[in-house]
Amino acid sequence: MPNTLFDALFAPLASRQDRLLILPDGSSLSGQDFLALVARAAHALRAAGVVTGDRVAVQVAKSPMSLAVYGASVALGAVFLPLNTAYTPDEVDYFLGNATPKVFLCDPAKAQSLAPVATRHSAHLLTLDGNGVGSLPDLMAGQPDRIAPADRGPDDLAAILYTSGTTGRSKGAMLTHRNLLSNAEVLADLWRFTKDDVLLHALPIFHTHGLFVASNISLLTGGAMIFLPTFDADTVLRLLPQATAMMGVPTFYTRLLDAPAFTRDLAGHMRLFVSGSAPLLAETHVAFQARTGHRILERYGMTETNMNTSNPYDGDRRAGTVGLPLPGVEVRIVAEGVEVPQGAVGVIEVRGPNVFAGYWQMPEKTREELREDGWFITGDLATQDGDGYVTIVGRAKDLVITGGFNVYPKEVELLLDEVEGVLESAVIGLPHPDFGEAVFAVLATRKGANLSADAALAAIRDRLARFKQPKAAVVVDDLPRNTMGKVQKNLLRQTYADWFKG
Ligand code: AMP
Repeated sequence: MPNTLFDALFAPLASRQDRLLILPDGSSLSGQDFLALVARAAHALRAAGVVTGDRVAVQVAKSPMSLAVYGASVALGAVFLPLNTAYTPDEVDYFLGNATPKVFLCDPAKAQSLAPVATRHSAHLLTLDGNGVGSLPDLMAGQPDRIAPADRGPDDLAAILYTSGTTGRSKGAMLTHRNLLSNAEVLADLWRFTKDDVLLHALPIFHTHGLFVASNISLLTGGAMIFLPTFDADTVLRLLPQATAMMGVPTFYTRLLDAPAFTRDLAGHMRLFVSGSAPLLAETHVAFQARTGHRILERYGMTETNMNTSNPYDGDRRAGTVGLPLPGVEVRIVAEGVEVPQGAVGVIEVRGPNVFAGYWQMPEKTREELREDGWFITGDLATQDGDGYVTIVGRAKDLVITGGFNVYPKEVELLLDEVEGVLESAVIGLPHPDFGEAVFAVLATRKGANLSADAALAAIRDRLARFKQPKAAVVVDDLPRNTMGKVQKNLLRQTYADWFKG
C-alpha cells in the first residue's frame, strides 16, 4: 500500500547491498541489513499493540536500532515521538501524559524509574540500549525481515516533536509525511546530495536537525552516513577523511577549530559543511574558512517548520546570515501585523509545504501561532535585505540555545523561584565560547535571606535536564524592571555579557 515517507526513504533500501551506516568501530550495515531491522522492529511494535495512528515515544541512545525504530514507526503508519535523552522522569511524565503513546521505549538503565510513568499513562514499556540490547530487540528476534507498509498519504502524521514551552509546557509539533518529504527533497536538491555522498552524522536523532535534515536527506538520495552516537572531536577527526559532507550545530565547528589536528588537508576532500539550530558566529565562519578553505553553509529552521532558509550552494554564502527562502517556502518579515520595509526588524513568518499541521491537542496555541491562511509566526526576529538574505537578530520569546538545545527561561525560573530565599529569578542566555550561549540565572533575594547562588543551583539540579541547568548564577537585591513592570532582560544580558568570556 502507498506510504508517502516509507516509499521515498525506506523502500529503496531493499536493493542496496552497499554500506548505509558506517559505525565508529569500522563495522557497517548495508541498506538491506538496515531495512530488515526496520521490518523486525515494526513487527515487534505491532506485537506490542501499535496500530496506525498510535504514537511511539522513544527516549534512547542514538544507534542504528533507534533509527530503525523511526523507520518501523513510519512503516506501521504510527507517529514517531522522539524525546531528548536528557529529560528527567518528571519531564517524560508530561510528554507521555500529553501524547498518550501506545509504546514508550527507554534505556534499560532507566526502566526502573520510568516504569511507573509508563504505567500511569498506559504505555507499553520496552527497552533498548545504545548497543542494541533490551526488550525490544528480544521481541524482534525471529520476526519477519519484511514488512508491508501501512497506507499513509501526504497529509497523515509521521511524527510529533516537542518544542520547549514559554510557560514550561512543551508543545507537540505535528509533522506530516508531506512536511518531512517535501523539505528533504528541496534540501537534497539545493545542497546537491547524491548516492555518492557520505554524511558525517554526529547530531542527536531526537531533534529535527539530526533526524529529519540529516537522516532523511541521506536516505532519500541513497548515500551513506557515518553514524556516530555523539559528537566527539577525536572520532570526528579520525573519520572525516571518509566523509564528503557534514551537518552540525555551531558548537561542532568551534570544537573542530579548537583541535590543531583539524587542518586544510583533513577537510580537503569534503564538499559541504552545513550549520544550523543556533546562530553561527560570523567569527567562526571566517576562522573556518581561513583554516580549511571551506565556507560553512548556514541554514535556518525550527521544529514546527523544518528548514526555511539556506545560504546558496553555488552563490554567496554570507557569514552572519541564514540565507534565502528555500524554493517553495514563502518568508515574510512582519511587525504590528504588516510586512516591514526592507531591512527593518520584524518577526519571521513562513508558509509552505514544510509548515507543520498544528500543535498536538492544543488548538488554541495552534491558532495563536499558525494563521488560517497558512502563515506560521516563528517568533524569531530578523531582517531581510534587498537580495533576499535573512539575518536573525534575536528571539522574540527569549529562548536560550545552548549547544544547539533550546532552553526556555520560564521553566528554569519557575523552579528557582521555589528555592528557599529566592524572591524571584531571571534566566538569560549569555555568550559562551563553547556552547554559543550558556544558561545564566540572576536571583533576587528575599529580605534578610542568606542566599548562596551555588546552593540555589544545587537545589534544582535533580529536577531539570542537565542542559537546562544554569551554568552560573548571581544574587542581587532587585531585578531591573521597566515602567510596565517587565523584567529588563536586555539590561541583565548587557551587565553580565562577559561572564563566560575569557
Ligand atoms: P528548534 O525548534 O529546536 O529547531 O529551534 C528553532 C530555533 O532555533 C529557531 O526558531 C531559531 O530561533 C533558532 N535557529 C535555528 N537555526 C538558526 C540559525 N541558523 N541562526 C540563528 N538561529 C537559529
